[in-house]
Amino acid sequence: MISFHQAIKIILEAIIPVDAENCPLGSLHGRVLAQEVAAPIDVPPFDNSAMDGFAICSEDAAGARPDRPVSLRLLAEIAAGDAATAPLLKGSTFRILTGAPIPPGADAVIEQERVEFADGQILLKEPVPFGRNVRSRGEDATKGASVLLQGDVLDAARVGIIASVGIGALQVHRIPRVAILTTGNELVEVNQPLKGGQIHDSNSFTLQGLVREAGCEPVLVGPASDSLEDLKKRIRTGLSADALITAGGVSMGTRDMVLQAFRETDVDLLFWKVNIKPGMPFAFGLYRPPGALRPVPVFALPGNPVSAMVTFLQLARPALRILMGSREGLVGTNLKAKLEHDYSKLDGKLHFARGIVRNENGKLVVRITGSQSSGVLTSLSLANCLVVIPETEHLMKAGSEVEVRLTREVAM
Ligand code: AMP
Ligand code: MG
Repeated sequence: MISFHQAIKIILEAIIPVDAENCPLGSLHGRVLAQEVAAPIDVPPFDNSAMDGFAICSEDAAGARPDRPVSLRLLAEIAAGDAATAPLLKGSTFRILTGAPIPPGADAVIEQERVEFADGQILLKEPVPFGRNVRSRGEDATKGASVLLQGDVLDAARVGIIASVGIGALQVHRIPRVAILTTGNELVEVNQPLKGGQIHDSNSFTLQGLVREAGCEPVLVGPASDSLEDLKKRIRTGLSADALITAGGVSMGTRDMVLQAFRETDVDLLFWKVNIKPGMPFAFGLYRPPGALRPVPVFALPGNPVSAMVTFLQLARPALRILMGSREGLVGTNLKAKLEHDYSKLDGKLHFARGIVRNENGKLVVRITGSQSSGVLTSLSLANCLVVIPETEHLMKAGSEVEVRLTREVAM
């Protein structure tokens, strides 16, 4: 049995990102850059006003005082979208609106509410420093400078930058196809009535959602029955995807044949069993398609719905991020919170306990949701975080600080 940290290290080192494709701007959100992006133009492309006001030459306003105002002759108005105007002459001003180009000769903008305005004149009662309210050409991005790096995940802000520098398509990694194979003779589809001993296949749906949330495309290849032949047939189908995730059949039972099926389908198992709870029987392997450069990672999750979800989040998801081309595998919102009650354990395992973290008068506190049985999925649907209890802890007292990893958004 290996530690969680050894497991994640082995997994992340084994993953090679999927290849790249050219993708138009409108479909870039959520994708991962396979190239660096340099700005082909200055952004903004011209000096422009940050305020509605009056464009002036700061020297004209140098001597302005409340009791000795400087008067400037108003020439015209420049709005956003207007092309550059005639130069500003000494002793004059243009009314200027936010985003409009600064006229040649002007070097500052005074907000309209700070001046008096009458008879084609404005009265300045204070000096206006050089550059005030001027957004300089190239202050957001300078032509030729790098704005995004290979491996950056394209969120809304980054897609916005790509649009603002005027790039219409980019090289991004393909969206990995992730095969999902649930296993077990007891599994029946959701719309079928349950006969004795049967249960609905929930893992297929949990895992589809998790794979989508990670930014990949799920492909269902199950459920498989607990027969070596059916498992092998479906594993072979799954191995044509970019990654394969199985659930169930990896424990010590006589019907747990998933690892055997992997061996017989040329999957090289790198480890089995991790010192965590829930999810100890997790296994990881690689399938090397003949002639291919990139191995197909295989994640064998335990079948218990909570174990499947926790091991996906903590061990498979980071790998899928690397597979998508991201530089960072381990991402997430990790916070520190105070435990509201004692937590004890004697098994020497790293625990990912389901918890509810909340803000109490500006401090984060967390309590564990009821039953921690790995079959109780409602404990995860109620939880908003996993509380990390290190291997070495036996008793964490109420009030101790613990690490929490958010599993959903939290009201703050
Ligand atoms: P296993 O890891 O195959 O021994 O399964 C452990 C437990 O998880 C058993 O109680 C299974 O019935 C349950 N289980 C396995 N696969 C699924 C699934 N796809 N959906 C819901 N429960 C499952
Ligand atoms: Mg099973």
